[in-house]
Amino acid sequence: MSELAGQVAVVTGAGRGIGRAVAKRIAREGALVVCTDVMDPSETVEIISKDGGAAEGMVFDVTSAEAVDDAVKSIHERHGRIDILVNNAGITRDQLLVRMKPEEWRQVLAINLDGAFTMTQPVARIMMRQRSGRIVGISSVVGLMGNAGQCNYAASKAGLIGFTKSLARELGSRGVTVNAVAPGYIQTPMTDKLTDAQREALLRSLAIPRLGTPEDIAEAVAFLVGPGGSYITGTVLNVSGGLYT
Ligand code: NDP
Repeated sequence: MSELAGQVAVVTGAGRGIGRAVAKRIAREGALVVCTDVMDPSETVEIISKDGGAAEGMVFDVTSAEAVDDAVKSIHERHGRIDILVNNAGITRDQLLVRMKPEEWRQVLAINLDGAFTMTQPVARIMMRQRSGRIVGISSVVGLMGNAGQCNYAASKAGLIGFTKSLARELGSRGVTVNAVAPGYIQTPMTDKLTDAQREALLRSLAIPRLGTPEDIAEAVAFLVGPGGSYITGTVLNVSGGLYT
């Protein structure tokens, strides 16, 4: 398969979990994938290389505008283009609102929402000049349905959806599509924190009674950034096994 041959992709939070699966999947289509993370993403790069794909790693924090600008500039200088951006880096700091510390609110918004703004702005400028590009934000069904204990996280993920829909309207005429994927509960270190009771209750609420896999999300992203996604913009692809319909 080489639907993305010759393309350059940037994936944030690619060191593990969903970001790693997305990076692997896009690389399998022939894109060169710049795997970025606040921790060392070299394990992801090695996995892709062993699989015969092209990848490189970069370490930076999506909340640092200076670091992001330098990174985007250096990717553009090295490769001459950026075709795909996947804003995947994200965290949770779950707490009931009445107990939530202001820094728990701020950290989640800073990484999940401000981070997407900080990454997207310099990349969007490049894509506009290219007259082509695909931007995908990893939101969450929690941003659509809400979830007790996740006011901060749900606000950040709902914010990402509003951002996506607005930016799609700004960039559509320049050949750039902007979409979001809203995963349900996916088996990653983020969901390993669930207790057995929480896990059982969750499975009962799903139409497809299993947790999703990072690969389920990667398939949705691959579709949106591939040729099949060329007339799709400003949309939210819900990949939640029917948790929210
Ligand atoms: P993980 O925690 O496994 O991976 C997230 C990655 O993002 C980590 O490698 C993390 O690095 C990195 N990261 C965190 N903060 C920053 C930062 N400031 N700058 C750059 N990178 C950062 O999470 P998942 O793979 O589960 O989640 C990926 C995305 O999918 C997130 O946006 C999440 O909200 C979303 N999502 C996940 C769901 C799930 O069930 N797992 C459901 C719905 C949405 P480090 O750990 O070193 O901080």
